[in-house]
Amino acid sequence: MKNDNVVWHQHKVTRTARAEQKRQQPCVLWFTGLSASGKSTIAGAVEQKLFELGHHTYLLDGDNVRHGLNKDLGFSDTDRVENIRRIGELSKLFADAGLIVLSAFISPFRSDRRLVRDLMADGEFVEIYMNTPLEVCEQRDPKGLYQKARKGEIKNFTGIDSEYEVPEHPEVILNTAECTVEECAALVIDYLRTHRIIHD
Ligand code: ADP
Repeated sequence: MKNDNVVWHQHKVTRTARAEQKRQQPCVLWFTGLSASGKSTIAGAVEQKLFELGHHTYLLDGDNVRHGLNKDLGFSDTDRVENIRRIGELSKLFADAGLIVLSAFISPFRSDRRLVRDLMADGEFVEIYMNTPLEVCEQRDPKGLYQKARKGEIKNFTGIDSEYEVPEHPEVILNTAECTVEECAALVIDYLRTHRIIHD
């Protein structure tokens, strides 16, 4: 459904003004990877560090969003695309509000991640690939989901019977099977400093 009579309203307090008030460069830190690859854990650790440094953040987490905004969506390919589209738009609004947004979603398809990247201004989309081997994720299995998927009790499970397309040019790659949570979080903070998204 399209409405040609809906026109974007330009308000007086601008995006730049909101960001300046918070003394930070708004952006979206997009954590992508298999279930149990560590997205929520690392996003949480990065958010905590940013919070301690006095930054204004917001963490959007896959499971939580599926309880509310996206509770009408399942895990078919079509629903996954719509899930990410809505989260992309939501992340964009939060970034527009001046926040550093941390989005932790499997987001298995390249085209969807590209769609969100294209919503954002240059340099504002930071793709963080959780490069955790499937075997490690399956061994961790904190919610018992892999076990259920292997038994066929969950269909369309990423890595088992639904594809995960590895990012081609992510800004950050985290090898969580080799680095601790602290080390991974520190790598993300280093990236933000180097790219002047945050300052000391
Ligand atoms: P996801 O959000 O990708 O589904 P979670 O963060 O919920 O993954 O789960 C990852 C699990 O792996 C957690 O139980 C976490 O404690 C564990 N884990 C072990 N080592 C690491 C690491 N280096 N980085 C992230 N998570 C790790």
